[in-house]
Amino acid sequence: MSKLSRDELLSKAMYINGNWLQGDATFDVSNPASGEVVGQVASASQKNVEQAIDAAHKALQSWRRCTAEQRGKKLRQWYDAIMEHQQPLAEIMTLEQGKPVAEAAGEIAYGASFVEWFAEEARRVRGDILPLLSEGQQTRVIKQPVGVVGCITPWNFPNAMITRKVAPALAAGCTVVVKPPSLTPLSALALAVLAEKVGIPPGVINIVPTDDAKMFSETLCSNEKVRKLSFTGSTKVGQNLMRLCAENVMKVSLELGGNAPFIVFDDADLDVAVEQFIACKFRNAGQTCISANRVLVQKDIHDAFVGKLSAAMKELKIGDGMQDGVDMGPLINQDAVEKAQELVRDALEQGASCELEGGQRTDIGALFYAPELLTGIRNDMKIANTEIFAPVVAVQRFDTEDDGIQLANDTEYGLAAYFCASSVQRIHRVSEALEAGLVGINAGAISNALHPFGGMKQSGIGREGSHYGIDEYLEIKTLIQGNL
Ligand code: NAD
Repeated sequence: MSKLSRDELLSKAMYINGNWLQGDATFDVSNPASGEVVGQVASASQKNVEQAIDAAHKALQSWRRCTAEQRGKKLRQWYDAIMEHQQPLAEIMTLEQGKPVAEAAGEIAYGASFVEWFAEEARRVRGDILPLLSEGQQTRVIKQPVGVVGCITPWNFPNAMITRKVAPALAAGCTVVVKPPSLTPLSALALAVLAEKVGIPPGVINIVPTDDAKMFSETLCSNEKVRKLSFTGSTKVGQNLMRLCAENVMKVSLELGGNAPFIVFDDADLDVAVEQFIACKFRNAGQTCISANRVLVQKDIHDAFVGKLSAAMKELKIGDGMQDGVDMGPLINQDAVEKAQELVRDALEQGASCELEGGQRTDIGALFYAPELLTGIRNDMKIANTEIFAPVVAVQRFDTEDDGIQLANDTEYGLAAYFCASSVQRIHRVSEALEAGLVGINAGAISNALHPFGGMKQSGIGREGSHYGIDEYLEIKTLIQGNL
């Protein structure tokens, strides 16, 4: 396949049944670093969503009958194409989302790794033959694709949140209708350009951007041809979608919000703790679902940790993600800036102290926000109960190991949790006690295609990635044969 340029990857039309459609309306996509419009993207109407569902349903009949080898081969070709275009795909992401281009390239590789992984997992969908219950009878358990899957994804990982759903769905033999976020649809459309180029058949992947999310979900969830919804986004929207899916008893996978604690115990190596915390917190300017939202530090090492952390935070370079050497780009929009400002204001009013002043950097652009460090936070403050989604660090002090665990679990969320410690016994005790789907132990970067990823409590239902991830797209069927 000849290599495509950034402009050739930059499609602004919707992709339905292998066709690129302009539609009747458009919406603007802006660069958060400059405010400039990057593109006017076609906005799907209800009719377009229905066309996409019909196309996915028609394509399902042949895609599900392909051998696992054939499906895996197509996914592998898609993976190769994505990696060949890593740099232009990263640039498109930076232009619409703002993260530094090196970090965006990291996301392209991370997103592609799910395609590679599930290309292989396609061949490992196995069933069972169960022990005889009576003479002349045999029971077999087979797994079959769920059917047409609707996918709704967020703006913070414009590439990976799509591949993490589409790759296992396709590997299992499902077809998909994807609504990318209206803030960052261009990365999703670029993935479709490459899927078309490598010959993934028409209708297997349909991408329908729209600025009417409510219309999309209502159309999708009321259509009996769609058998599953896979959603990544906020808990509030996830709850609404789950209600909509109840109507047709549609299967759901939900990857929702988080309120990750990062606990530093008194036996931790503080340099490791600071290094891992920086990796965890400042990726994507703090706009990740597994970003450390509350930092819980044991009393005897509190001041030493805060001092080291403050020094490390001062080193972070903030600027336009297209420039070299930038660690952090802008926040996604004005609402995100105002939300962070409000959480900081409320915490300070309630008695928190500011150890490192940061905040909005209008000198370089309205949406840039310099890292900020607050101490004296309590779990009952708004900042400790809300996804901050900004480079604001909120530190609480605690006394005993049990206090630390109790504070960490005192949230309705259960996506990620982190802790730093040295004692093997403590590591064992705390790992068992934390209520989270993912626990990083002396580790701040915890997500990859080989690990099951997902939350407990109000952080969601189901797992993505790993050998568990494909099960979300498979039905179990039991075949009981008599008269043998
Ligand atoms: P969001 O819930 O506002 O939007 C997510 C998607 O849902 C977008 O495509 C949006 O257009 C769509 N949407 C919004 N309202 C809708 C409605 N009424 N019906 C149907 N679709 C609707 O979330 P966001 O601001 O895009 O993303 C940030 C959130 O996503 C955070 O809460 C973050 O924690 C979460 N997130 C979770 C994970 C995870 O793996 N658990 C990963 C990334 C982000």
